[in-house]
Amino acid sequence: MPDLYAVFGNPIAHSKSPAIHASFAASTSQDMVYEARLAPLDGFAPAIAEFVAAGGKGANVTVPFKEDAFRLATRLSDRAARAGAVNTLAFADGEVFGDNTDGAGLVRDITLNLGYSLNGRRILLLGAGGASRGVIAPLLAEKPAALFIANRSAEKAVKLAEDFSDIAPVNGGSFADLAGKSFDLLINATSASLAGASLPLPPGLFAPGALAYDMMYGKGETPFLLQAREQGAARGADGLGMLVEQAAEAFFVWRAVRPQTAPVLADLRAKLAG
Ligand code: NDP
Repeated sequence: MPDLYAVFGNPIAHSKSPAIHASFAASTSQDMVYEARLAPLDGFAPAIAEFVAAGGKGANVTVPFKEDAFRLATRLSDRAARAGAVNTLAFADGEVFGDNTDGAGLVRDITLNLGYSLNGRRILLLGAGGASRGVIAPLLAEKPAALFIANRSAEKAVKLAEDFSDIAPVNGGSFADLAGKSFDLLINATSASLAGASLPLPPGLFAPGALAYDMMYGKGETPFLLQAREQGAARGADGLGMLVEQAAEAFFVWRAVRPQTAPVLADLRAKLAG
């Protein structure tokens, strides 16, 4: 019997994770299957219990269950404890190990795939929700010169910055607080474009050579990347690489094997474009 894995979410039908992990398993000769499972909104823990009873070895967790998974874990990685959310579970010997690979996925995409070193850079993180919280510690581990978090609800950004200020100086505030500042890397971790809204970014925000990174992805240029290009960003990248890299990191947690990500990313990119 192949080892059993799954991604849990609600909704889940759109998930690209089964295809990504099937490619990883084939390229590394791992005997495993990976399914998409819809969990009821009020029934995440029973769905996981049933999966473990059926022999499930590990799971990915997506919207809206990352905080439920955090509470379910009996042991947490440092990065999951910091993130306050879990996107990767591993089940062994009665233990539920919770990890969070989103931040590592973002950092690997930026540093390895895009070849952009974070060391010494001035970083602006837009948004103060779950995705933003998950990537702060891994970003700070790369030793940027500065990290500023801007959010529509400014108090959430200020609180988030405080939560990580024991690692390195982090500041938070409103979009208006960005006036007069400039950054080398701007990361969009808001869901503004889902609502068709553009972000109130003041002029002059993009330093020469700046990279704009959107955690969102889709067919063609995302609304944030279009706005960034119009406001002077030198380069843009969407979050498809982060998606593939967080999956590879989860695969490594489960199988202790690091799959090649470039072919999988190229394949997904071609499918999105088509
Ligand atoms: P949350 O719902 O937790 O947070 C949403 C954030 O967006 C908040 O900071 C919110 O501000 C802000 N926001 C929403 N609407 C607007 C608007 N109209 N104007 C300005 N700010 C707005 O979402 P997540 O943090 O979980 O996810 C954020 C994005 O990141 C999503 O689009 C998600 O798809 C993407 N993501 C991508 C991943 C990948 O692998 N590529 C992984 C994880 C997430 P406020 O606090 O004021 O409400």
